[in-house]
Amino acid sequence: MIDLGQLVALVVEDSSVQRNHLVTLLQDMHFGTVLEAGDGVEALRILGGQVNCPIFLVITDVDMPGMDGIELISRLAEGRLVENVIVISARDPRLLETVESLAADNTRMNLLGTLPKPIRISELSAMLKQAKHRESVAELKAPAIQELAEIERALEAGQFVPFFQPKVLFSTGLLKGVEALARWQHPQRGLLGPQAFIGSIEGTPVMARFTLSMVEQSLRLLTEWRRSMPTLTMSLNLSADDLADRSFVDRLMDLVRKYEAVPQSLIWEVTETMLMHPLALANLARLGLRGFGLSMDDFGIGYSSMQTLSRSPFTELKIDRIFVHGACERANRRAILSSSLEMGRSLGVSTVAEGIETMDDWNVVRSLGCDIAQGYLIAKPMPAAELLGWVRGNRARLRALAAQADGAKPDA
Ligand code: C2E
Ligand code: MG
Ligand code: MG
Repeated sequence: MIDLGQLVALVVEDSSVQRNHLVTLLQDMHFGTVLEAGDGVEALRILGGQVNCPIFLVITDVDMPGMDGIELISRLAEGRLVENVIVISARDPRLLETVESLAADNTRMNLLGTLPKPIRISELSAMLKQAKHRESVAELKAPAIQELAEIERALEAGQFVPFFQPKVLFSTGLLKGVEALARWQHPQRGLLGPQAFIGSIEGTPVMARFTLSMVEQSLRLLTEWRRSMPTLTMSLNLSADDLADRSFVDRLMDLVRKYEAVPQSLIWEVTETMLMHPLALANLARLGLRGFGLSMDDFGIGYSSMQTLSRSPFTELKIDRIFVHGACERANRRAILSSSLEMGRSLGVSTVAEGIETMDDWNVVRSLGCDIAQGYLIAKPMPAAELLGWVRGNRARLRALAAQADGAKPDA
């Protein structure tokens, strides 16, 4: 039996009446702490601040202004932020079915179920009987050992390759650099994105080898591409394990020397939560000292983003796509976007917006003064062999995109 008195619950609901009702129910059930958020963005902020005390239960509404419950659930699944989730809605029960199917193959959180409003204490307690602590969730659904063995074999066989997504300047539409994003060319299952494998590699000794393989393949290509595009930069994602490893920076430097890459041509992307390990900041400082670019990825989600950014040697701030895509219709996202860009400017770091999918996204983010755009409007991540052709084929389109007045359609 779980002792609820030691646990934290979070209610995410835009209607204050409903939220108070749920908070009271959870207090009556003797939860230790009950937190409240009015939408998904606020919920993520709260969750970001709860690192040492994970949230046992999130009860979220589906239909909310700002970030809705569906988007919140996908973000929760990516971030391993909570142990158990209950979804509630006043809407069509079919919507709840969709939510259930969305979360069905989720290995990172336990969706206890969905409930129609108004919520009754009897239904809530019945559902909570299936709640589990994360360890037992992980045990139940953790990838089998052979999955890691399969990953190691795939690594040996060269099945992990980087795809590349362009980053272009808002001012001119010119290509500034590319971000390497890992893909698994699986012989049976086809092309797989990081969500299919990164989680299984995290926290294992395979991570260092995996990252170094991505870096080496990318450096080889960068050397080739810089012959025709001498200022091109390459962004590479590091993992928490990499930054927590004392010898990792040295191994990285060996590769950089082998390919004679200039530090200014490389940008290491890290997320704020990776910096919690005591060695991480020191490793980051070592990279900064050597003149590499350092990017804070997924900026805006963490609780203390601003503070971390101002204290660390970052050269770039990469705003998470939840604050970018759809910013024109959502005032609360636009507010975070705008203050993040302001922060970047005052610290003198360059700003990148991820998730530019539409002309509206481009126009809003550009008008707020962001430097660099990345997203499906510019290009999806592509195989290395397609990059040069893409550059030739899209120069005119991107120049027109940058030149057009706000709101006008670019030339195709
Ligand atoms: P990230 O570094 O924040 O990368 C951006 C993700 O957003 C990529 O997903 C990219 O394909 C996707 N994206 C780009 N533009 C758009 C857009 O306009 N709309 C939408 N909806 N999505 C867009 P991807 O490739 O699935 O990678 C997911 C995450 O996996 C990355 O997030 C990164 O954290 C991690 N990852 C990828 N490659 C590596 C790697 O080599 N090593 C490590 N440690 N992590 C990696
Ligand atoms: Mg990244
Ligand atoms: Mg990101």
